[in-house]
Amino acid sequence: MIKIAEIISGTEISKQIKNEVKAEIERMEKEKGKRPGLAVILVGENPASKVYVASKQRGCEQVGIMSESIKMDDSVSTEDILKEIEKLNSRDDIHGILVQLPLPEQVDKNKVLEAISPDKDVDGFHPINMGKLVAQKDCFVPATPLGIIEMLKRTNIALKGKNATMVGHSEIVGKPCSLLLLNEWATVTICHIETRDLKMHTKDADILIVAAGVPYLIKEDMVKEGAVVIDVGINRITKDKASSELLEWRKEDFDKKQATLIGDVDYLRVEPKASYISPVPGGVGPMTIAMLLKNTLMAAKKTVGMK
Ligand code: NAD
Repeated sequence: MIKIAEIISGTEISKQIKNEVKAEIERMEKEKGKRPGLAVILVGENPASKVYVASKQRGCEQVGIMSESIKMDDSVSTEDILKEIEKLNSRDDIHGILVQLPLPEQVDKNKVLEAISPDKDVDGFHPINMGKLVAQKDCFVPATPLGIIEMLKRTNIALKGKNATMVGHSEIVGKPCSLLLLNEWATVTICHIETRDLKMHTKDADILIVAAGVPYLIKEDMVKEGAVVIDVGINRITKDKASSELLEWRKEDFDKKQATLIGDVDYLRVEPKASYISPVPGGVGPMTIAMLLKNTLMAAKKTVGMK
């Protein structure tokens, strides 16, 4: 009989989290007469960025966060963005600020991220928050790794003493996720593009988290029997590039949109080997939005003095 892994549904778990956030916002309105506010700076016309910002705003609407988006032209200078951030930093009705990445080449990304008040840095990209994460102090943690840990916890997957392999070492996902795993007492291996024998490290993992942005990077023979597999990757595959297997599996997507989204894991082959697996879409993606909303609530709670 083919063993089937349990699917960790980020869609379902994120709904629970959003309901909790919504209830807390209702309490805030009742007790303090205030609502959290999130400002999103969107630069240029990157279609993926537009989609991400729209889904963040939809999430805000669902839970009762006041959201505002500031659209800036592709030709914007670092100084122009800094001026906007300064205004947002001083506003009492804005508790969270995020700048949608990537930014155009002429913009100094680090300067921009460092200009955001660490108290309003709901993306957790400010070096002060990153440093606090290393020191295990109360701070804003980037939403994607926070969502990954939350989905593991809410699925009752123990991390203490487990071998966890993180594929990817970006500031947004891989590094903070590795620290969170370490803070939960997992034994953590971090892999990246220069890792010599990726399979050796992935095969050893009780918990395998993959955030590389490379479709089919993780194949069946790279995964340990019974492993927990979290696929963070988001890869858009157009109809002309899809294999016949993918065309059949995602027929509905291809018929409707001429494209589909897949992760970094060869899902159809890895799934029977895993004990738990998160799908793409419907896995880490919705968790990221939910945790951003939770971070914004946390920022607002601190400002209004609510526990
Ligand atoms: P990134 O490009 O900044 O980092 C990619 C990492 O993967 C790097 O550490 C790189 O060294 C490593 N890598 C690349 N190819 C590799 C290979 N062949 N072997 C081993 N390591 C390899 O990307 P990122 O921002 O961390 O995002 C990674 C993926 O996760 C992307 O597909 C992105 O779209 C997705 N993502 C999803 C969410 C979500 O909410 N679901 C959020 C952020 C990113």
